[in-house]
Amino acid sequence: MALLGSKANGDAGDDDRGRQLQVKRRTYWWCALFFTLGSLAHPLVLGELRPAYFLVHLGWSAAFVVLGALVGAGWIRGPESGIAAGLVSLVALSLSIHITGGLASPLFPSFYTVPLLVAVFTPGQRLPVWSAIVGTLGAVVLMTWLSHTPWSAFLARSISLGFTFLVSAYGAETFRRLQAAERSAHVERVEALRKLADSELRRVRVERQRAEVERLVVVGQLAAGVAHEVNNPLAYVKSNLRYLEEEWAEGVPADLDDVRRVLEETQQGVMRIQQIVTDLRMFSRDEPGGMESCDVPATLAEAQRLASVRLRSLGVVERDVTPDLTPARITPRHLVQVLVNLLINAADALESIRPSRPAHVVLRARMEDGHVRVEVEDNGPGIADAVLPRLFEPFFTTKPPGQGTGLGLALCREYVARAGGTLEAENRAQGGARFILRLPAAGAASQPPRRDVPAPVAEGTEPVAE
Ligand code: ADP
Repeated sequence: MALLGSKANGDAGDDDRGRQLQVKRRTYWWCALFFTLGSLAHPLVLGELRPAYFLVHLGWSAAFVVLGALVGAGWIRGPESGIAAGLVSLVALSLSIHITGGLASPLFPSFYTVPLLVAVFTPGQRLPVWSAIVGTLGAVVLMTWLSHTPWSAFLARSISLGFTFLVSAYGAETFRRLQAAERSAHVERVEALRKLADSELRRVRVERQRAEVERLVVVGQLAAGVAHEVNNPLAYVKSNLRYLEEEWAEGVPADLDDVRRVLEETQQGVMRIQQIVTDLRMFSRDEPGGMESCDVPATLAEAQRLASVRLRSLGVVERDVTPDLTPARITPRHLVQVLVNLLINAADALESIRPSRPAHVVLRARMEDGHVRVEVEDNGPGIADAVLPRLFEPFFTTKPPGQGTGLGLALCREYVARAGGTLEAENRAQGGARFILRLPAAGAASQPPRRDVPAPVAEGTEPVAE
């Protein structure tokens, strides 16, 4: 690709250069035509036909035709062709003026145009302009000397010539400076863009690392619960196996139904352990994923399973999902992470209550104004008024050091915002906190969700008690 790119750039550069050469060639040839026509008109200026003057002009035109051809073919470069054109013009003009009366010639003012013309043909280059200035001055000195004109006349001419020389040199210099400034501005622009791309890359990398750390923190917060959750089924799997071993030691057991029941229970225990391990592995794996369509009920169930290692011992987790729910447009792994964060926060809040009371956490999902509305509410202590405005600030935490990073809710809001949704918190009238997610429905055009519409009373809900 890089090779293709550079080849494409090279081709574009060649095209530009080719076009420039064509323009230069055409300009030289137009000048040649102009000199020829000028020579045809000279009897009108001089009042008589001068064959020598005519021949000088024809030679001048021929030289420009040749120069145009050489420049067009790329055999000589711009600056050299400018110097050559200036020299040829100077010689031709000097001869024309000398033939027609020297310093007193009606054509003398043409000298004024030489450096100006060179400045126009070789913009931004010092050498051709200064060569034309020195050459013109030399030609005027030579002409004064050859025609025995008084030096006072030369001085008068030189002053006015000097003014044109200054304008030509200043014009060429200004153009050169402008070009240089433009070039350095371009270089600075490219450099600034490169730095911007670099810092954007670094920002994305840091953001990914931050998300990774936060996910691992959540895994850490789940770890203690996981040990407990795995231990429970492990204990009865172990005791069931011992029971079966004892039963079989004395031959085929009489009560086979009892054996089947024990085996089923053991299998359920193993499956529970397997589920916990699978969920944790899925959760801790870094899967950036696209903005896919997310099956909300399945995601709620997965988050509930993951967080159950913390919540199961505290009380009841209820799932309340309306049947008309459409998939939401969010990366499923992000939604799981957001919900697990909210559930763990609920568990932390509920654990902090003294005296303790049975937890009642509700995971609710319904359609609202074309968006998917998901709520996580608990019957904990609620959020203090002083905490509420700072809840989503990165690094804001009320938990003791080592327990809270203060990044959970900030990251949750970021994930939800990235999907085009919103995440808000409020206190419930009955006590406890409520977190409200509004997510765009999958397939819907991106549009900020309305916040002023009260949630409709859900019909046909499916409460799933844990
Ligand atoms: P962390 O959990 O590491 O403190 P978060 O950003 O997840 O960071 O939460 C920030 C703060 O919000 C918590 O320290 C807590 O004070 C408050 N908070 C979050 N969820 C609840 C909740 N369900 N009930 C009460 N307070 C909450």
